[in-house]
Formats: sequence, structure tokens, C-alpha cells
Amino acid sequence: MDVSRRNFLKGSALAAGSLAISAKPAKADPGSTELRTKGLKTHTTICPYCAVGCGMIVHTKDGKIVNIEGDTEHPINEGALCSKGSAMFQVANNERRLTKVQYRAPKSDKWEEKSWDWAMNRIAKLMKETRDRNFVSQETIDGTTYTVNRNEGMAILGGAALDNEECYLLSKFGRAMGVAYLEHQARI
Ligand code: SF4
Repeated sequence: MDVSRRNFLKGSALAAGSLAISAKPAKADPGSTELRTKGLKTHTTICPYCAVGCGMIVHTKDGKIVNIEGDTEHPINEGALCSKGSAMFQVANNERRLTKVQYRAPKSDKWEEKSWDWAMNRIAKLMKETRDRNFVSQETIDGTTYTVNRNEGMAILGGAALDNEECYLLSKFGRAMGVAYLEHQARI
């Protein structure tokens, strides 16, 4: 049977209409006291993804996260979350999530599992080496020499998940390392 464009569109509209009717959600019971989060521990947190900084509520049971949703009391998002924030639960509960340090040595084609101590020591060692290699203590401009104590080999980028105290500590740490390139994700 030949299907004209008009008939095709008519059929599509009918199919969409019947789908919309059959997909009608069950009626909510406003009197229900049985919430799925009943009896769970509640914690508030901030979404770590972007600079909007939406508030979230995390529900836990026996120390395990069982639900994450928007915080209706939070002045920024008033309970709403974007698609990324709504999927936050899967970040915490995901069989594909890496929980151990993975290290791939230079020129190697495979990952090795390492301890956190090993990783922290290696990061500290490389940061120290980078700082020492790129440290500029003095600079001469128009014949005058200034003390600058500047580390030109490193930059620090803060993120939206950092709170005031963390930002303070990070900027203090950066300046102690001589880092001049201090930035925040929200300004980029
Ligand atoms: S929920 Fe979405 S908009 Fe809100 S902070 Fe997270 S990523 Fe940003």
C-alpha cells in the first residue's frame, strides 16, 4: 500500500496520541506518609559539577548512599537539578567507578594498581621538582631588579565543589608554592 505524506503524518499523530493516553502516570496519593526516604539518614551537600552550585540532599542507609535529590531548601536551585546533577547517584553507586589508584608509567601500555600513599608521595615529589625547576626569584625590568619569588611552571584551578575554607587553603598553598596562575573554574 502506498503511504502518502499526509496519511503518514496522520498516522504518526494518532500513534503519538494513543501513546500519550496509555502513558498517563498513576495518580499520586498526597495523603501518603510512606516516603521512599523514610528512616534514612539525611545529609546536605553541593553538586560538584559546575559553578551554579546547586544544593543536594544525600540519603544514606548503613553508611551507603541510597538516594540523592535536589534540596528544596537551597536558595540557588530550590530542589531542581539539571540532568547531570540528577544523575549524581550513579557517580557514587557505579560498578564501573574506579576506587583504586591507577598508574600508567611513561611509555607503558598498561595500568598498574598503586596505593594512595604511593600516589601522594609521587605527586608531592613531582610538584617539588617542578617548582624548583621553574622558580624565578628575581626579575629585572628597565634596569631595576625586583624580588618576585614566582613559580612559572605550575597553575592551580579551583572548582565549584570547593567551599570557602577549601578555596582559602588552596590559594594559600598555591601562593606558598609561588604559583601566580591561580584561577577558578567559574571564571573560565
Ligand atoms: S545540578 Fe547541574 S546546574 Fe546544578 S550545580 Fe550541578 S551541574 Fe550545575
